[in-house]
Amino acid sequence: MSGPRVIYWFRTDLRLHDSPALQAAIDLDPTVLWPIFTWDPHYVYRARGGLNRWQFLLDCQNDLSQSLTRLNPKSKLFVLREGPQTLLPKLFKAWKVTHLVFEKDTDSYAQERDKAVVEAAEKAGVKVVMRSGRTLWDSDEIVANNNGKPTMSSSQLQAAAAKVGSVPRPIPAPQHLPDPGEMPTDFEQDQPDTKPDFNAPRRTEEDTGYSKVAGPNGDFAIETMEELGFPPATTPHRGGESIALERLDTVIKDTEYTATFEKPKTSPAQFEPQSTTLLSPFLHFGALSVREFYWRVQDVVDKYGKGASCPPASLTGQLLFRDMYFAAHAALGNAFGQTAMNPYCRFVPWHLASKRDSTSGLITGEYHVDSDEAEVWFRRWKTGVTGFPWIDALMRQLREEGWIHHLGRHSVACFLTRGGCYVDWERGAEVFEELLLDHEPACNIGNWQWLSCTAFFSQYYRCYSPISFGQKWDKHGDFIRRWVPELKDLDAKYIYEPWKAPIQDQKKAGVRVTGDGLSSSGPGTYPKPMFDFSDRRKVCISAMKTAYEVGLHGNDDKVLKGTWREL
Ligand code: FAD
Repeated sequence: MSGPRVIYWFRTDLRLHDSPALQAAIDLDPTVLWPIFTWDPHYVYRARGGLNRWQFLLDCQNDLSQSLTRLNPKSKLFVLREGPQTLLPKLFKAWKVTHLVFEKDTDSYAQERDKAVVEAAEKAGVKVVMRSGRTLWDSDEIVANNNGKPTMSSSQLQAAAAKVGSVPRPIPAPQHLPDPGEMPTDFEQDQPDTKPDFNAPRRTEEDTGYSKVAGPNGDFAIETMEELGFPPATTPHRGGESIALERLDTVIKDTEYTATFEKPKTSPAQFEPQSTTLLSPFLHFGALSVREFYWRVQDVVDKYGKGASCPPASLTGQLLFRDMYFAAHAALGNAFGQTAMNPYCRFVPWHLASKRDSTSGLITGEYHVDSDEAEVWFRRWKTGVTGFPWIDALMRQLREEGWIHHLGRHSVACFLTRGGCYVDWERGAEVFEELLLDHEPACNIGNWQWLSCTAFFSQYYRCYSPISFGQKWDKHGDFIRRWVPELKDLDAKYIYEPWKAPIQDQKKAGVRVTGDGLSSSGPGTYPKPMFDFSDRRKVCISAMKTAYEVGLHGNDDKVLKGTWREL
């Protein structure tokens, strides 16, 4: 008698260890099991993902595929090139599928996608098995235990979590994998509804093999950057479960570091190696289980005893923040990612504020622009030519490596929004979405709201100085010298404020401080600062004070109708 015919759909969980969903698939004792990954037009064509993140994804897929083949030489990660909403119903029929199994994803887009897939499965008589494994606790359960509300603080998360129970212990990786079955794809394939739209070499459906569900060679292969039409990535950080587990081992072996970790004491200026774990991109792709991370750390902390750090500053405290943002996103859905319609997001009349398409969520233009200058400031911030070396170094590291330290993210996000440019946090979040290896919608949006004091945090009078904050960590400016080579020979006295260097010091260092960085001023130049920071700081704090006094939120009528100006 033939047993279950199971599709295991990999999405947010590119790993074998501690995967409750994969274990659930194996527990069905399938006759055949297909481990698949589907191209989703939402991510492939609509969402902004830079080259570095693409490389990291392909690394994770390749590593996972090799691990699957080690468990069963006939198996691998089969990549199918069509959106899951249209593809899976066809596979259910063509492959005579009995079960579809996947890890739960509570992101707003994923919720909509999975609803459509589950409905199609029910229609086709396919049983759906879904397991939570992406967060410490099931985000929906956290929301239910927070009175159905988004978790807007770490203590709300902890109170709700106490009702849900302790974080589940990780489970071991499977030791065997059933054979995959036949994989006919002689059904008509749906074409993507959106054309690719990337800046660097354009990808076409032909380039990407999208027009053929099993890939150009019909072997369900994982693409290379070249096949995707991309130039090589610039990040030195490589992905995959094997690297993630090695890196976690290294962290855990350093008992002192793990047990006494305090985030505010880690330096944003430290590089090679960085001062925090750099495990976030692995968590994002599910190459590392967050529960594995949590328990490996907690076990060290428990043994260490007196002197160990505790949440929110500790390492496990960092993971609690992650769960807090996931549960906020799970509760608010699409409204979480923007000011408009979001009852928890404070309305601030930024100089540059974004208008979003309500379906795709993409920024379509500005709904108000009070200052042309702010557009220039935004462009200079994005390209790392603000004239403030601390900010520029961070933005250049972000662009090249796809990762910057948390306090570095604080600096550049505060600077763009309430502590300098007064530009909408949504504009900044969009740039991070493109550039971060670890871009996680919930964490990116939540942290941008925190830094712009529109939600989660309200101390708008505390701004990060682009000069003294960096100096506190790195007096000599080594971090700046690494990322802003124009300034590498400048005296430490001027490295954070090169515009103050007398002309003879500039000459000695082989640099001239001139221009705006956008139009070329020639080699050996570094731009002048785009404004006087202490003046801007005063203007921003006073404007934020007014916004707080007016007290509008994203769902207020005056915001939605644009009549807030009349106040
Ligand atoms: P560690 O300090 O080693 O912390 C361990 C893990 O805890 C991280 O890997 C991460 O998963 C989690 N974590 C730590 N801090 C936070 C936090 N504040 N919020 C949520 N999770 C946290 N993190 C993302 O994972 N994706 C994002 O898209 C993202 N966008 C951000 C945008 C801004 C403006 C800011 C200020 C922060 C953002 N963060 C984001 C949070 C944080 O900066 C990164 O998680 C962290 O720097 C990753 O480095 P790490 O792995 O060395 O962290």
